Amino acid sequence: MTTGEGPSVTDFDRAGVRPRPLIDPFARAITYLRVSVTDRCDFRCVYCMSEHMTFLPKAELLSLEELDRLCSAFIAKGVTKLRLTGGEPLVRRGIMTLVSSLSRHLRSGALSELTLTTNGSQLEKYAAELKDLGVRRINVSIDTLDPDKFRAITRWGDLGKVLAGVDAAQKAGLKVKINAVALKGVNEDELADMTAWAHGRGMDLTLIEVMPLGETGESRLDQYLPLSLARARLAERYSLVDIDYRTGGPARYVEVKETGGRLGFITPLTHNFCESCNRVRVTCTGTLYMCLGQNDAADLRAPLRASESDTPLFAAIDEAIGRKPKGHDFVIDREHQRPAVARHMSVTGG
Ligand code: SAM
Repeated sequence: MTTGEGPSVTDFDRAGVRPRPLIDPFARAITYLRVSVTDRCDFRCVYCMSEHMTFLPKAELLSLEELDRLCSAFIAKGVTKLRLTGGEPLVRRGIMTLVSSLSRHLRSGALSELTLTTNGSQLEKYAAELKDLGVRRINVSIDTLDPDKFRAITRWGDLGKVLAGVDAAQKAGLKVKINAVALKGVNEDELADMTAWAHGRGMDLTLIEVMPLGETGESRLDQYLPLSLARARLAERYSLVDIDYRTGGPARYVEVKETGGRLGFITPLTHNFCESCNRVRVTCTGTLYMCLGQNDAADLRAPLRASESDTPLFAAIDEAIGRKPKGHDFVIDREHQRPAVARHMSVTGG
């Protein structure tokens, strides 16, 4: 795998032609790629996976070299923000080789941000290396600060280990944002305390509405807490002031006056922000999903493997972006309890 500096354009533009930037049919520029580097995870969060998941055979996965080439093709086409996710990205064998290789695009200036979303279980081990490789910020998913509840939500997780990972990340100088899925009757009473905890440690907190992705063996209606409700309850304890702060993702932020910290809301159900969508997602098998909540996809593995040249890959990416839908339409109510799409979040990459 290439890890040297080298001019990034000639490195990825094997066809010798400057590829066209990615503009979808609704004139949205696609500048943000999320890559699920594995569908495997060491947790089994109840809203994300079923307890007994069948994972992809390892032979179907793109190699680290192929993932690098795929990401680099997107970067050549104007992607400036790359997020590694999963499954759990830090359980993919050799993941640091990929981060190290991709970091050349940070040094060349082609990428403005290389980041990841993690459950934190492996952060103690990797935080310092991530920082050394140019990662500046990471998202860590923590839905509760109660160890028993944490175990119940994740089925397998150890909160102590995750918190040690957060400590290590902060000590290494990584900026940490906490993501929490708001779950009815599970963590809804804790959201104000979690806000105080995160802000007390200098971390933003973002709350996420549960999305109807994949069969998990649990009722979505029992899990779904509209963030409009959560926000109203938080406003009983805190003064929340809307602010314009953006990180390039779908979260909308408020400042919490009492803590001085930022609280984000990702509301794909109560209010989607599809009109400003700038991102696409690719799975560990090279399937490109143009929308998290739609089934349409494009196979990029075949064109990637078909030729040493990136020309067929660029053509396949262009064709797929030409089909990016306007948005998704998640609904969770008594009439809509089935998944909007069959695949789990761990496949597409959250
Ligand atoms: N393992 C990593 C982690 O835990 O952050 C990365 C992958 S995980 C699928 C990414 C994010 O998606 C996590 O914050 C998780 O809580 C969230 N997530 C998973 N399933 C979800 C669902 N059905 N609705 C909303 N968020 C979901």
